Amino acid sequence: MKDFYTLSDLRHWQEVTGGESPPIRLAVFGDPVIHSRSPQMHNAGLAGRGIDARYCRLHIREDELEEALGLLPGAGFIGVNLTIPHKVAAMRHIGNIAPAARAIGAINTVIVEADGSLSAQNTDGPGLVRAVQAELGAELGKLRVAVLGAGGGAGRAIAVQCRLEGCPRIVLLNRTLEKAQSVARELGAPAEALPWTPETIGGILHEVDLVINATSMGMKPGEPSVVPAEALRPGLLVYDTIYTENHTPLVAAALKAGARAANGLSMLLYQGARSFEIWFGGEAPVEAMRRGLTAAHQA
Ligand code: NAP
Repeated sequence: MKDFYTLSDLRHWQEVTGGESPPIRLAVFGDPVIHSRSPQMHNAGLAGRGIDARYCRLHIREDELEEALGLLPGAGFIGVNLTIPHKVAAMRHIGNIAPAARAIGAINTVIVEADGSLSAQNTDGPGLVRAVQAELGAELGKLRVAVLGAGGGAGRAIAVQCRLEGCPRIVLLNRTLEKAQSVARELGAPAEALPWTPETIGGILHEVDLVINATSMGMKPGEPSVVPAEALRPGLLVYDTIYTENHTPLVAAALKAGARAANGLSMLLYQGARSFEIWFGGEAPVEAMRRGLTAAHQA
């Protein structure tokens, strides 16, 4: 199996991959895609469940998306995941979109149905719910939540999921305030938008149970914690969507302050597990998938 395939490979899928065993019948579409750890995670899950299929990377550019999706049934695919920049654009090309994904305004899991039609769901939100349960021991729907970066793709999905779960308070903060205001208007009460200042961020953390970082702050080495250290306190729950093997600056600062904190590796794992369950039914082999993901991060 190659590190990644292209649209031109997909056009001649049987010719290009016909010799592969198990056959490649799942993929992630992205641009760029080479960094994606989804193949290692899903291939560990497929092997764990003894399923005769493999998962690869497909480098698909924005202007290739419609054709690539259209080729999936003929190429024998079970489904695909979508990553940047396809999560919103793909909605135009798929007839049957789950209501929760429509509310989020983005999809990340495509299913090739038995009749060759495509349907889609979004597993990022459900992945977060399971991650908060597994890592922080809490039920998302019972928590007052502050979402930092609520105007970005991940932040919006998280904000909508908080609303779907029934969170009693949802505070949306975003560097560009208008984006948080627009999400807040869409969600209605109990969502509200606040301006992005150290004072508001610091103040609001005393009024919520959980703070979620959905900004990209903390991804690059040396970047500071997105939350001022003095705002962190024992008892606060902190979830940083940035995925890393080590502590992110926010997680490190939160643990130092006595808060309970986790990074986004578990959200990545559980969104993948949910996609797996949509494609194959039953429970995903989460431990095998976790080992695959962790090994990929260490490689
Ligand atoms: P995106 O759509 O580009 O959004 C980026 C967000 O970060 C926006 O809200 C942006 O604010 C904010 N931001 C960027 N630089 C900032 C700064 N210096 N100060 C304050 N805010 C800043 O990206 P995305 O796809 O939502 O990804 C956001 C994060 O979520 C990334 O770290 C990604 O790794 C993570 N993520 C994790 C998972 C998972 O499974 N764990 C899944 C998806 C995403 P403006 O609107 O003002 O630009």
